[in-house]
Amino acid sequence: MLYQRSSALFAAAKKVIPGGVNSPVRAFTAVGGDPIFVEKAKGAYLYDADGNQLIDYINSWGPMILGHAHPDVLEAVISYAKKGTSFGMPTELETKIASLAVEMVPNIDKIRFVNSGTEACMSAVRLARGYTGREKIIKFAGCYHGHSDSFLIQAGSGAVTFGTPNSPGVTQGTAQDTLLARYNDIDHVTTIVEANKDAVACIIVEPVAGNMGCIPPKEGFLEGLRALCDAHDILLIFDEVMTGFRLAPGGVQELLNVRADIVTFGKVIGGGLPVGAFAAKAEIMGHLAPEGPVYQAGTLSGNPLAMAAGFAMLTALNNEREVFSSLSQKTEYLHKGMAKVLDATSRPYTINRIGSMISVHFSETPVTDFETAAKAATGDAFKTFFHGMLKEGIYIAPSAFETWFLCDALTYDDLDATIVACEKVSKTLA
Ligand SMILES: *Cc1c(COP(=O)(O)O)cnc(C)c1O
Repeated sequence: MLYQRSSALFAAAKKVIPGGVNSPVRAFTAVGGDPIFVEKAKGAYLYDADGNQLIDYINSWGPMILGHAHPDVLEAVISYAKKGTSFGMPTELETKIASLAVEMVPNIDKIRFVNSGTEACMSAVRLARGYTGREKIIKFAGCYHGHSDSFLIQAGSGAVTFGTPNSPGVTQGTAQDTLLARYNDIDHVTTIVEANKDAVACIIVEPVAGNMGCIPPKEGFLEGLRALCDAHDILLIFDEVMTGFRLAPGGVQELLNVRADIVTFGKVIGGGLPVGAFAAKAEIMGHLAPEGPVYQAGTLSGNPLAMAAGFAMLTALNNEREVFSSLSQKTEYLHKGMAKVLDATSRPYTINRIGSMISVHFSETPVTDFETAAKAATGDAFKTFFHGMLKEGIYIAPSAFETWFLCDALTYDDLDATIVACEKVSKTLA
């Protein structure tokens, strides 16, 4: 495949946009080469600026769970756009999507809409601090909660890929209020909590990690966090920006039956438009302005086009709940197919999978936390794999620290094509 036009567009972009991209993970820094510029997308396919068709396993980093340009979402956005694009006043649509979200997700009474996952997590932490009157937070190494200061303390994903685990610009003062724990290690979290008695407002966690590749929680880990939070009056925040409305209609709370105190959303909830949200029981949400003293606001929050897209997406998912099992089955099929062709090589590998999230790590040992994910990402195997797959028309995330997302528009023929590509490429992974 040729990428001449993409490369030319990238050169032009670099002159006026830092690094040529508006979010660093889009650049190919971790794998080398120039990023691909998209022209349009439909269903499971991307069409790039050079006219190549690619099978997409990123799906806009998660939102397009039903495939690109879903007719219901398109129709909703187009018809609302004709009424106006922003009012800065309440609309009935906001209550409709809020009611549907509250119906689909366990343990929440009220939800506040924002414009990104970053905003949702940042606001959830402020709410937890305001509610508990405590200042420290615990996060896990390798979990990503957006790019706000409190979280850029050895964060995963982009920051790791770019080798700046502590971003310049984040102050020491902020850093000292974020305590870092090891994912899947309840003893480590317990030690941190006990060393910071009555000081921890919340523990924020990706209940299924997706920003160091896909790393499901070990049995008992989330239950352990729940018990620890209950024992110490700490709020448990599930960051379900990636997993919400993807792993089950009610997210990981429903899938693994563990209750969080505050839940954050993004990605799928906006149907491809910029939407984030955070939600909790009424008692906690009552602390939020204008009902309570914890301030949080947004000029474009609850934007009608974004709410229309999100409402259409959640409605489609709520009405077609078999999508979640169909996605799981497709992901399992892909897993088995790739495992078979990789087993035939001498290259050690690990595949992690849950629901429609999957990642391939070229590692001899299981990948269960940030340390093991980082160890698996050393060496050139992933780079070779990425570029090999791309040559075969398969677009996976350009970093070993990212999960792949399946969308329901993928057919079994697409999955077979992916497995055949994987077989070809695996032979080049000496
Ligand atoms: C993507 C992501 C975020 C950040 O969301 P943005 O919309 O990119 O700001 C936060 N948490 C998790 C788990 C994510 O995957």
